[in-house]
Amino acid sequence: MAAVALQNVHKVYNNVCVVNDLSLTIQPGEIFGLLGPNGAGKSTTIRMLTTLTQPTQGEIVVAGYDVVRQPFWVKQQIGVVLQQISVDVDLTVWENMEFHARMHHIPNSRRQQDISRWLDYVELSDRSQSLVKTLSGGMKRRLQIARALLHQPQILFLDEPTVGLDPQTRRRLWEIIKGLNQQGMTILLTTHYMEEVEYLCDRIGIMDNGKLIEMGTLEELRHKHGLGLLMKQDGDRWDYTFFPTMDEAQVHLAAQIDKTGMMIRPSNLEDIFVDLTGHNLD
Ligand code: ADP
Repeated sequence: MAAVALQNVHKVYNNVCVVNDLSLTIQPGEIFGLLGPNGAGKSTTIRMLTTLTQPTQGEIVVAGYDVVRQPFWVKQQIGVVLQQISVDVDLTVWENMEFHARMHHIPNSRRQQDISRWLDYVELSDRSQSLVKTLSGGMKRRLQIARALLHQPQILFLDEPTVGLDPQTRRRLWEIIKGLNQQGMTILLTTHYMEEVEYLCDRIGIMDNGKLIEMGTLEELRHKHGLGLLMKQDGDRWDYTFFPTMDEAQVHLAAQIDKTGMMIRPSNLEDIFVDLTGHNLD
């Protein structure tokens, strides 16, 4: 059984189709990255998958349950970390965890142990008595992740988990996310950081204007678009041409009489993204 399955999903707001005929399957144990420029429909997709808004049309099944007909069961199987900070800043770290655990009816016998375990996992044990408003942005994000894990979800949804964090904090979060996946958790994240996708994701889906315009592993995408890239400077902009292999790019470059402003290199996800969407990633 797929962990997440969307079939011909549409979401219409004010007569505008912001998610347009999206079909996608994520297998248990995968880390899937949804990538796209602002306004592509990534957050709306996550909101539909996590029962926060209903699809206008189409079917969504998460952990075997239909998000429209069985939202209660879906919610038991998923952990969600949205972009906005949703922890209570006037409570302590521990109180936030305690509150969430009680909301999920985690029994007394297990609650303290589970809270300790997850605070330890995200390295916040020493801040458990601190008010959340005194934490850094990275710590608040780690607390949100710890809280999302308390009820032992099978699938974790992360909407731009590292946006606005410094590179070192971002890397620390990547390790946490990777570790969870190694323990068997299925993860769907949205991002516009290329390194994040390259480091974390087994497969990538690229969205633009509500449509899924490309999907596959990074290597599949590179093979499809071309492994070699010729860059040519034209005034203050660069023209990119893909070649199936680096050798072919090299042969093409060698054949040019005037090589001024030209260079070749292996293609990367950002090149593919720009080629497909006309936007830079961040
Ligand atoms: P992304 O996460 O890729 O940046 P979103 O899913 O947030 O994209 O938004 C996709 C489009 O849907 C945007 O044009 C946005 O303005 C619109 N949108 C999102 N939520 C709502 C809403 N609640 N009501 C009306 N329009 C919305």
